[in-house]
Amino acid sequence: MKRNPSKLFCSVSSLALILSPHTDSQNFACIAGGNHSAIAIANTMAKILQMAVMLGSSKLGHGSFGFDERQTDSAPVPQMKRELPTRQMCLEAFKRTQYDILIVGGGAVGSGCALDAATRGLKTALVEANDFGSGTSSKSSKLLHGGLRDLEQAISRLDVAAFRRVRCSLQERSHIGNLAPHLSQPVPILLPVHHWWEAPLYYLKLKIYHLMAPKGTKSFQYLSADEALEVFPMLRPRELFGAFVFYEGQHDDARMCLSVALTAARYGADICNHMKVLRLIKGKDGNVAGAEAVDQLTGKKYSIRAKVVVNATGHMSDSLRQMEDSEAKPLCTRSWSSIIVLPRFYCPEEVGVFDPHTPNGRSIFFLPWQGHTLVGSGDEPGNLPGQESQPTESDVQSLLDGVKHFVSPNFDVRRCDVLAVWGGFKPLPVQSDSLHHTRLKNHVIQLGPRNMLSIVGGTWSSFRALAEKTVNAAIRYGDLSPLRNDSVTAESCKLDGASGWSPKMFIRLVQDFGMERDVAEHLSNTYGSNAFKVAVNAHSSGMAWPIVGKRLHSEFPYIEAEVKQGVRDFACTLEDMVARRLRVAFLNVQVAETILPQVANIMAKELNWTREQMKKQIRDTRAFLKTQMGQLTKENASQMNIPIKMSVRQVRKYAGQFSQMDENKTGYVSISDCCKVMKTMGVKEVPVDLMHNVLRDIDVHAQGKVNLYEFLLLMSALVQGDTEYLRYARLYLDQKKQMQGSIFPIAMQMERAGGSL
Ligand SMILES: Cc1cc2nc3c(=O)[nH]c(=O)nc-3n(C[C@H](O)[C@H](O)[C@H](O)COP(=O)(O)OP(=O)(O)OC[C@H]3O[C@@H](n4cnc5c(N)ncnc54)[C@H](O)[C@@H]3O)c2cc1C
Repeated sequence: MKRNPSKLFCSVSSLALILSPHTDSQNFACIAGGNHSAIAIANTMAKILQMAVMLGSSKLGHGSFGFDERQTDSAPVPQMKRELPTRQMCLEAFKRTQYDILIVGGGAVGSGCALDAATRGLKTALVEANDFGSGTSSKSSKLLHGGLRDLEQAISRLDVAAFRRVRCSLQERSHIGNLAPHLSQPVPILLPVHHWWEAPLYYLKLKIYHLMAPKGTKSFQYLSADEALEVFPMLRPRELFGAFVFYEGQHDDARMCLSVALTAARYGADICNHMKVLRLIKGKDGNVAGAEAVDQLTGKKYSIRAKVVVNATGHMSDSLRQMEDSEAKPLCTRSWSSIIVLPRFYCPEEVGVFDPHTPNGRSIFFLPWQGHTLVGSGDEPGNLPGQESQPTESDVQSLLDGVKHFVSPNFDVRRCDVLAVWGGFKPLPVQSDSLHHTRLKNHVIQLGPRNMLSIVGGTWSSFRALAEKTVNAAIRYGDLSPLRNDSVTAESCKLDGASGWSPKMFIRLVQDFGMERDVAEHLSNTYGSNAFKVAVNAHSSGMAWPIVGKRLHSEFPYIEAEVKQGVRDFACTLEDMVARRLRVAFLNVQVAETILPQVANIMAKELNWTREQMKKQIRDTRAFLKTQMGQLTKENASQMNIPIKMSVRQVRKYAGQFSQMDENKTGYVSISDCCKVMKTMGVKEVPVDLMHNVLRDIDVHAQGKVNLYEFLLLMSALVQGDTEYLRYARLYLDQKKQMQGSIFPIAMQMERAGGSL
């Protein structure tokens, strides 16, 4: 057979192109002589071969990603230099130190940069305007993923850049597992298959995904429809052909971020939260030589001098860039995503579900996390630059709508089950703001005109690699002299608490300290081997069992000793504590509010707060819970949707009744109290099976208790016979009618009522 010489040329040249990473297929096509079909063939072949090489080489270990050519010097991992310094010690150091590198922004990327720089022996400073991780980095879906959707794009468009991203994230997933085994673990995720023809496509995709992952990564498996329903019974049987189960990584994002920053501090970095950069300091040559920052707690200003300043301020990076150059064009755009938290029963035990193509055309995920279920949608609404950074009721309703359409219609999806809501801005480089065009890169490292380095974009999963690249760039452009050129954060370095930790370490906490199992597991998976320090400081419970560990709330494994530990771990405000040291604000906003006084009391003793300061902390944190964690949307929604229609006299009467029942003045009465009142209104017995509906309709906060507003709501519906909103009231009136001889109606489908915010 005669060979086609142009194809042969293309293939040979494509191979050359792969071997030479700095050539791209367009350059090659020019070499090929400008013939359009030859160019197209050359491009495609080049891409296919590049992908093939990527698949093959992924098992060989770390590759090089653009900026950094990894150098192999095999110096041992440096030892941590010191015990954790205090915030005050770091502030003092700011005054007297000339740093190599100052990092602005203590999110995933900034903290990662601080760790990378400090472990290379660079004199490092890190400042964060609010708390470590308080930006987008505490508001993620908690996944460390390779990016199955990116892979879809990579395959469908033969997009080499997307392939690279997936491979990098998959490698990073396992690096993070090594860096912090106590903070990250694999999570199985069910991928429903709705049509027979999806099965081979998903198989292929997952196979490639698995091939690209490092050796030892857990493989995926196929389940029949029946098996899938056993795992996740809420799926709609009719819309299910089968399912795959694959694995991603999961972590506690805020704790991971904090732990990275604190480990950097132990390696010698001076770190400070609540320290906002106000302006950049420029040297005689006009280049950036540091920054002026204000301590938000005291108002005191500090001039921090450094050879290189790194702007790692996430979606706010353009404002710092404008401090460098007032003419700077935007480099960063952002997209808003939100997540609702539901009780554990919305998700099968320890298994998540991700459906990229639900029958109603949306994507949705359910993820088990810290005994709760996170629900979000992978759909990005696009660029919303002016949006307030707080979740709204329409975010909640949109996600609940997705849940209702996804789970079986027999399953009651209730607004009152939403325990918390949060949202965040994903930072994206400007050229990648749309899902619909090929994104060459999901991050950019840019050297500004006055020598400030800005890192924009990326994901949590790739934070370490981004940090490594950024520090490489800082060393190169700032002409820095690190003790070691290569980064150690990929394979040999571990976060504080990781050494000496094992998954069964919690048993020793139970045995040695007499702790409850869930408390011990929580401490072990949060602090790693440092959990023993927390346990040693825990007070005796005064009971036979558990011996130590006084809980802050019966439903959560958090103990009082953690508040003291939190203060040592740089928590300066009550919000820092309930949102990012303990994750209670992200899990159940109502419980978070309940424990505020108790937590504030302990913090007040540790931080010498006056009574006034303590009250202010409680006020500020309540405002945070309302606006950032979704409490306001819940309250507003209930009050907007359901009118109370009673005369003033009637309101007084029922408010009086409420007050009599609420003997201890807690602000709540029980559901059985409500039933008692109903008896006085003519119902002899409240059927037990209706109790659930009472709860569903009027207990907006889903705590099995009813506040005055909810009580009046119920009375209003009963008095007025206005059952538009309350299913229970409607059933009650129908039952009354039946007792009077009318026909009991067929069970009605009521729209969401009191709980329907
Ligand atoms: C809803 C949602 C879900 C997500 N889920 C995932 C996921 O499952 N997996 C994944 O890999 N990624 C996920 N992401 C993306 C990921 O969370 C982000 O890419 C990552 O957290 C960005 O980190 P960052 O450090 O760049 O930004 P940030 O975390 O926003 O950090 C920037 C910090 O800079 C500080 N700052 C700003 N200005 C100043 C100043 N003047 N002085 C000092 N400090 C300043 C801010 O206070 C902030 O803390 C998700 C994002 C969202 C919104």
